[in-house]
Amino acid sequence: TTKLMAGKRGLIMGLANDKSIAWGIAKAVAEQGAELAFSYQGEALKKRVEPLAAEVGSTEIVECDVADEASLDALFAHLEKVWGKLDFVVHAIGFSDKNELRGRYVDTSSANFRMTMDISVYSFTAVCRRAAALMPDGGSLLTLTYYGAERVMPHYNVMGVAKAALEASVRYIAEDLGKVGIRCNAISAGPIKTLAASGIGDFRYILKWNELNSPLRRNVSQDEVGKSALYLLSDLGSGVTGEVHHVDAGYHLVGMKAVDAPDI
Ligand code: NAD
Repeated sequence: TTKLMAGKRGLIMGLANDKSIAWGIAKAVAEQGAELAFSYQGEALKKRVEPLAAEVGSTEIVECDVADEASLDALFAHLEKVWGKLDFVVHAIGFSDKNELRGRYVDTSSANFRMTMDISVYSFTAVCRRAAALMPDGGSLLTLTYYGAERVMPHYNVMGVAKAALEASVRYIAEDLGKVGIRCNAISAGPIKTLAASGIGDFRYILKWNELNSPLRRNVSQDEVGKSALYLLSDLGSGVTGEVHHVDAGYHLVGMKAVDAPDI
C-alpha cells in the first residue's frame, strides 16, 4: 500500500525538543513518507533540532525567527531553491511573556500584547502567504490552538485572546487560499507538558483537571495530535478547510465538573 504522505514535502516550524507538539506531528507524517524541512528559533536550539531531524531523515534545517520578516523571506527563499514546491506547512509556534501568563488578563501590557499577537498570530498569516507562493498544485496549512481561545482558562490570558485571533485568521486564510486549492486548518490540542506549556501558571493543575473531567478521562499525547495532523495534512482531509479540530479527549464539550471526579 502507498503511504499517505508519499511524494509530499513539508515544512515543520516550532520544533524545540522531543516534547514539542511539532515533534509528534513530524513523526506521524514522516512515518507516512513525507519529506521534511524544519525551522527553529535561535542558534541555541540547533543542537536539539539536528538529531531529531536526522531521526526522520531530514537534512533541511533552517534558522527562522518569525518576528523577523527578513528571516521568513530567507526561509522560504531557501525552500524554493532546494525544493521549488511545497505541499504542507505546520506552524507550531506561540510566545508570550510568562509573567503575563498568570494573574489578571486585564493587566496585560501593551508591549507584550503586541509581541504575543505578532509571534502567535501574525506569523501564521505571514507564513501562509509565503507558503502559498510555493503551492501551485494546492497544499495544506496547519496551526495549533487551544481552548483558551473559546472559554476563559486560568492564566491563559493574552494567549487566549491571541488564539481567538489565530482561529479567526484560519477562517480568512481558508477563504483566500481555497480558490487555489490550499486548505488551512487548526488543531485545538488539549494540555500537553511542553516547554511552552511550562510557562503557564498552575499548568499541572490544568493537566489534572482535564484528565479528571474530559469525556475520555485522560489527557492527549503529542502522538495523538500527530495522528490528527496527518489526517488534515494528507489527502484524507481533502474536503476539510477552515476547521478548528479539537484533539483534547473531548474536553471542549464539558459543561461542568464530572460527578465522578475527585476534588484536586
Ligand atoms: P514548544 O515550546 O515545544 O514549542 C513552541 C515553539 O515556538 C518553540 O519551538 C519555540 O522556539 C517557537 N517559537 C517561539 N517564538 C518564536 C519565534 N519568534 N520564531 C520562531 N519560533 C518561535 O511548545 P508546544 O506546546 O509544542 O507549542 C506548539 C504550539 O502548540 C503553540 O502554538 C502552542 O500554543 C500550541 N498548543 C500547545 C498546547 C500545550 O498544552 N502544550 C495546547 C494547545 C496548543
